[in-house]
Amino acid sequence: MCVCAGVWCLTPPDLSGALRARLEPRVTRRAARRALLREVQLLHPVRSGRRAPPAPTIVPRLLPFIDQRMAQAAEYSYRHYGEREWRLDPQMIVLHYTCGPTFSSAWHTFANNRPRRGELPGLCAHYIVDQDGTIYGLVPPSVRCRHANGVNHVAIGIEFVQDCLPQGASAVERAMLTRGPQIEAGLALVRHLRRRFDIHDDNIIGHAMVNRHAMYSDLLGRTNDHGDWREGAVREFRRRL
Ligand SMILES: [Zn+2]
Repeated sequence: MCVCAGVWCLTPPDLSGALRARLEPRVTRRAARRALLREVQLLHPVRSGRRAPPAPTIVPRLLPFIDQRMAQAAEYSYRHYGEREWRLDPQMIVLHYTCGPTFSSAWHTFANNRPRRGELPGLCAHYIVDQDGTIYGLVPPSVRCRHANGVNHVAIGIEFVQDCLPQGASAVERAMLTRGPQIEAGLALVRHLRRRFDIHDDNIIGHAMVNRHAMYSDLLGRTNDHGDWREGAVREFRRRL
């Protein structure tokens, strides 16, 4: 028998009927969580016919209530993209920075799932790259996350832990591009993701570039007013891939 929990279609162990009836919800939940953890760490198989360099080490820190978020993402997608869908088939990667000092502050902001502009789900990202090079996995790349208006139905979101600086965006970009462990971890993650999902380099962009991108589309006309990762910094990032 096959029990489907979200995208993760699982076959529970062959247990006798009565025992299975008692254990199945728990077995299935545990197996689904294991599948989530494998996927967020990019340990699941790459689609056949594709080659990807090894995935970097990813520390799983899944956001809570992911089932609720999937349902909210489906309704959000219906309003903004005209399809009631929470699944993500990634065709784009959007780079962000947190404008905050720590991984923990960013994770808690996303975990709170507060409405933004009166809508749920709240903001989130698939991955956060900390300044010491640790990559945290929050949401598997097969699930839509709300991180950039107009492309949440096609894009993986990656946040770099980086405070906003009084000297402005150029200083912020320089800080990230010269912080060895963090930028190397971010590059390793994107090198893997672009091959795993066959994403063209033109579709590796910064949040500041989303409104002008050909794949931007939003039925309610919502645009982005964030200036994170402008074109010059992204070009430098792509060059190092
Ligand atoms: Zn952003």
